[in-house]
Amino acid sequence: MPSNNVIRGTRIGSAPERFDQRVEPAPRRPVVYWCRHGHRVEFLIAAEAETPATWECPRCGEPAGPDPGDPPGRQRAEPYKTHLAYVQERRTPEEGEALLAEALDALRRRRGRD
Ligand SMILES: [Zn+2]
Repeated sequence: MPSNNVIRGTRIGSAPERFDQRVEPAPRRPVVYWCRHGHRVEFLIAAEAETPATWECPRCGEPAGPDPGDPPGRQRAEPYKTHLAYVQERRTPEEGEALLAEALDALRRRRGRD
């Protein structure tokens, strides 16, 4: 096996030099996320990288987020919407106006009573 010996010899000879060249591995920081099933998801990202919004839980496949009380799995794949966007989606502008008028009416009545 002369060819094997040559390859091994090359590797052994060059390995120490390579170790010296890369002095330190890229710095990493640990991130802990939680999925909606309460699984703790810990992973490492590059220290200078931005924290991802979600991270897939390796145990159940649901997205995990940084807040254990409000895991991202509840929102499913839907894009984030404000409460107002939901309200506007559900109601026509006319209905919205009527509701607003009603609310203002109620507010005035309450104030008048005080
Ligand atoms: Zn999970």
